[in-house]
Amino acid sequence: PKSRPQTKSKAKPLNETKTNFSSLREKAKALYETRRKLPIFAHADDIRQKLRDDDVMLLVGETGSGKSTQIPQFLVNEFWCRPTPTKITQDDGTQKEISVGGCIAITQPRRVAAISLARRVAEEMGTPLGSSSPASKVGYSVRFDTSTSPSTRIKFLTEGMLLQEMLHDPWLTRYSAVVVDEVHERGVNVDLVLGFLRNLVSGTKEGRGSVPLKVAVMSATADMESLLGFFREGYSLPSQEQKTKSNGSEAMQSKDGDSRDISVCHIKGRQFPVKTIYSPEPVHDFVDAALKVIFQIHYKEPMPGDILVFLTGQETVEALEHLVNEYAMGMDPALPRIQVLPLFAALPQAAQQRVFAPAPPRTRKVVLSTNIAETSVTVSGMRYVVDCGKAKVKQFRTRLGLDSLLVKPISKSAAIQRKGRAGREAPGQCFRLYTEKDYLALDETNTPEILRCDLSQALLNMKARGVDDIVRFPFLTRPPREALEKALLQLLNIEALDESGSISDVGLHIAKLPLTPTLGRVLLAAADNGVECLSDVIDIISCLSVENIFLNTNSEEKKEAAETARRDLFRREGDHLTMLATAQAYATENTDRKAWAERHLVSHRAMQSVMDVRKQLRMQCRQSKLLPSDDRRTNASREPSPVLILQSFLRGFATNTARLVPDGSYRTVVGNQTVAIHPSSVLFSKKVEAIMYNEFVFTNRSYARGVSAVQMDWVGEALAG
Ligand code: ADP
Repeated sequence: PKSRPQTKSKAKPLNETKTNFSSLREKAKALYETRRKLPIFAHADDIRQKLRDDDVMLLVGETGSGKSTQIPQFLVNEFWCRPTPTKITQDDGTQKEISVGGCIAITQPRRVAAISLARRVAEEMGTPLGSSSPASKVGYSVRFDTSTSPSTRIKFLTEGMLLQEMLHDPWLTRYSAVVVDEVHERGVNVDLVLGFLRNLVSGTKEGRGSVPLKVAVMSATADMESLLGFFREGYSLPSQEQKTKSNGSEAMQSKDGDSRDISVCHIKGRQFPVKTIYSPEPVHDFVDAALKVIFQIHYKEPMPGDILVFLTGQETVEALEHLVNEYAMGMDPALPRIQVLPLFAALPQAAQQRVFAPAPPRTRKVVLSTNIAETSVTVSGMRYVVDCGKAKVKQFRTRLGLDSLLVKPISKSAAIQRKGRAGREAPGQCFRLYTEKDYLALDETNTPEILRCDLSQALLNMKARGVDDIVRFPFLTRPPREALEKALLQLLNIEALDESGSISDVGLHIAKLPLTPTLGRVLLAAADNGVECLSDVIDIISCLSVENIFLNTNSEEKKEAAETARRDLFRREGDHLTMLATAQAYATENTDRKAWAERHLVSHRAMQSVMDVRKQLRMQCRQSKLLPSDDRRTNASREPSPVLILQSFLRGFATNTARLVPDGSYRTVVGNQTVAIHPSSVLFSKKVEAIMYNEFVFTNRSYARGVSAVQMDWVGEALAG
């Protein structure tokens, strides 16, 4: 009886694969007509030639001109883009033959973009996506989700994942080319990627033998001068390796060392005129203002034309989503329908993909997005842009020694990008929810993240890659010394570095985890406290990976309803244990998770992401032997141990603590700043000896979010190491 289902399950995928291939090819053929019309298509030969001649190419092209989707397809059949056997010299001086190259990596600042681009390019090439078939040529790799096959030739990955790959394979031997996309975003990871790549193209390449690595750097904005200078400087400087190493590959280096240059290529995009409409006076509540504008457009402007609204984060997106749906219900039934689609990084994949599907007939799409849709992803059909003028940015607060998320005005260049989204296919309109005067006062461009964020992850990555002398690392923009010192201190605190500043075993382990150094430390500390503690901590960390597992219940009557609905999930120890209770209740719910979530005013959408992350983290922990391979929750009814769990968290978060002072407020243990417990916390308005918090948010005052009660002597112990 066992053999039948087996044969059945074997036969089915084969059949599916067969039918799939011809329909995939059909679809690709149809898409070719659209691709051919992209502005970049006319430059294909020129681009190929430039990368045949030189190893580095810079490419500027407006958003939507086809850079991300077409460049990898232009390059993948080039003669230099195939696995090449080559001899390398090993550390002990002996030679070994290995195969180098064959794949193209394209880095993206955001996971949403990496996945949606991979899906699109797979469609255009008529190949299945990622791990769905061993014959798939296009894959992706983002934190907590990798989908590739043995035949992958084009791989979209986040900058962070490329840095992770470099830890295992510093010479990137799998790749013939790395395409660094969206550099104008200037997140800290892209600066690291550029630094390592400059070393790879300008230094000796003993790890790649005689096989060059081609690098294309792409941006939507025109400032390529600094990058040009950056790579040229690399060519003119003999690198550290060149000076100290002496082996066979050095001769090759000096032979072609001076003759190389860097090509620059400009692609003009299509852009229709976009009319700007400013708010006549300053807007206090942009969610409310956006709601009005959306319906004003819908009532007054004839179809077609979808609406793209830029908001600050998941919370504002979800708040507006709710409002628009509510209003749309009372709308004149003679009007076209409205389909509201949220778009933010923590959204589960299936929901993200819905954004790209065309709207049903007689329906207007309203996409509510964070700044993801600014340049990272192109959603077609948009004719109206509503721009709140703000974005959530990471800001390092030196006195507190940690990052906080602040809602800040965007730059002029970001405002222009947002506006441009309305004019991709036809003339459009952009409603700015701020005054013209406010627009004129905006900064010209975004400040690179490296100048304003916590550098501990970046530093740990460099240390793990063997960069001991941070001062000599080729930074496109050099971070402030103070921030580097803080990061060093932070890494010392969590024992990722030893006293001499070299990476420790703990640090090496943390660097390989898909987590921030702090959460990585927590995970390892939990592993020391036993399998059950680790298992619980994984559940909590998974919840922390989304912005909020609970639905927004800000109004008074909703607050009461929420308290009743969530009573059995709330834990007096605080938010961490409450998250654990929620994750476990959700995970063990096996009849209807969606209904369960609705009943408890828990976000089903957020919990789906939480479960994805949890699965990945558990797998990773099994691979690194932190969890046993046959780890099943045999004892589901066991009680968690709050003390062990919170003490594990303190190993990473000892500096994110505050104690109660006699006047009833909380003051941070490091820095002595006043901080209040965020209204969303289960400990809101509670008085406990001390609190530990996951993040620090600053709106009109300083709030701690993700808060648990801890004891001062635990904090003392954790701070002492
Ligand atoms: P660029 O990188 O220059 O901004 P892209 O290569 O990302 O341009 O996009 C080129 C075109 O491909 C877009 O205008 C859009 O029409 C289409 N496209 C890109 N991604 C997707 C997707 N996931 N789904 C559908 N169409 C897409």
